[in-house]
Amino acid sequence: MHFKGAISSKLPKQGITIFSIMSAYAAEHGALNLSQGFPDFNCSPKLIELVNKAMLAGHNQYAPMPGYMPLREEIAAKVQAQYSATYNPDTEITITAGATLAIYAAISAIVKEGDEVIVVEPAYDSYVPAIEMTGARPVFAELKYPQYAPDWDEVKKLITFKTKMIIINTPHNPSGSTLNAGDLQKLQKITDNSDIVILSDEVYEHIIFDGLEHQSVSRFPKLAERSFVISSFGKTYHTTGWKMGYVLAPENLMKEFRKIYQFMAFSANTPLQVAYAQYIKESDDHLQLSAFYQEKRDYFQKLIKGSNFKILPCQGSYFQLLGYDKITQEKDTDYALRLTREKKLASIPVSVFYQKNRDNHVLRFCFAKSNETLEKAAEILNTI
Ligand code: PMP
Repeated sequence: MHFKGAISSKLPKQGITIFSIMSAYAAEHGALNLSQGFPDFNCSPKLIELVNKAMLAGHNQYAPMPGYMPLREEIAAKVQAQYSATYNPDTEITITAGATLAIYAAISAIVKEGDEVIVVEPAYDSYVPAIEMTGARPVFAELKYPQYAPDWDEVKKLITFKTKMIIINTPHNPSGSTLNAGDLQKLQKITDNSDIVILSDEVYEHIIFDGLEHQSVSRFPKLAERSFVISSFGKTYHTTGWKMGYVLAPENLMKEFRKIYQFMAFSANTPLQVAYAQYIKESDDHLQLSAFYQEKRDYFQKLIKGSNFKILPCQGSYFQLLGYDKITQEKDTDYALRLTREKKLASIPVSVFYQKNRDNHVLRFCFAKSNETLEKAAEILNTI
C-alpha cells in the first residue's frame, strides 16, 4: 500500500537506527553479532519465576501511573544506600517503559521550541531526535578521541540564555568512559545560578570497572536539585527486551515529567514491576555486576591483545572500542559492513554517534556475551 498524500516528515534526515541496521545485516550474513548492546545469555531464572508468579497472582492490570509503589520504595532504598541521596518514592520516582521513553518524556516535558540543549558527542542516538521533536536546537560539545573526556570550558562556552538542558551520560555509550567527581563539580559550577536542567543518563550505573565509583548526579545535592536521573532495569538485570526503566527527579520537575509520561505510556508493565520489586529486595545482583562485566572486558581484551586492533580504554558500560588505523583507512561505516559481510563479525561504527559523522576509525563491540561468543569474535579479530 502507499499513502498518496504529501507527507511532511517531522524527522526528515532520520533513517532507521544503526542498531537495527547492523543487527539485520549480521543476521543476513550469518555474522556473530557484537553490534547491538544486549547480552546473549539469559537473565536469572528466579526473576522469570517471579514474573510468572505475579501474573498467576493476578497482577495483570494497569499499575499506578508513576509505578508500583513497592518497586519505587526499593529504588529509593537503593539510591539512598549507594549515593546517599534521598528521593521520595511518592513524588520523585517514576517507573517507565524503558529508559529511551524516559529520555523522550523528560526532554518533552522541559524543552520548548527555540530552546537549546547541549549534547556531548559521541552520543546515544535517541537524544537528538527527541530534542528536534520539541522544535529546540541541539548544540554539540565533544568528548575527544581517544580518552573521550569532556572539556567543561567548551561546554561553558556553549551556554547561552537559550540553554534549557544539558545531557550527560556516565558510564558512556559508546566510549566506555566515565565522569569523575571533578567533572561533576565542574558541571555544578557552570550551571550554578542558572535555570538549566540536567538529564543524566545513568543506565550503566552498575557497570563500572577498576575500583572506580559511579558518580551519579544524585550524589551532588546542588546538581540533583536540577536533574533527571535516568536508569534502566534492562542493563542491570540482563533484561533489555523487557524495556523497563526509572527516573529520579525533584518533585516539581517530576510533576512536569508525569504530565507527559501519562500520555505516552500511562504506566509500565505491571507483572514485571511486581517481579523486580521482589527480586531487588532479595538479591544484590547490582552489586556484583561490575565484577561480572570486568571479567568479560578483561577476557576479551586478553584474547585480542596481539591483534592489529588498538584497544581503547574502557572504564564502564559493556562496550569495547577498537581502533583499526593500522589495518585500513576505510570509513568506519564501510569497514563495519565489510567486516560483517566478509569476516562474519558485526560491530557498530562510532561515527554514527556524531551528527557530523566524525570518523576516528573506531568500531564499538559489545562484550555482554558468553565467553564462547567472545572467543569466536577474538578468533576473527586475530586473523585481521
Ligand atoms: N541510554 C543509553 C546510553 C543506552 O545505551 C541505552 C540502551 N542502548 C538506553 C539509554 C536505553 O535503555 P532502554 O533499553 O531501557 O530504553
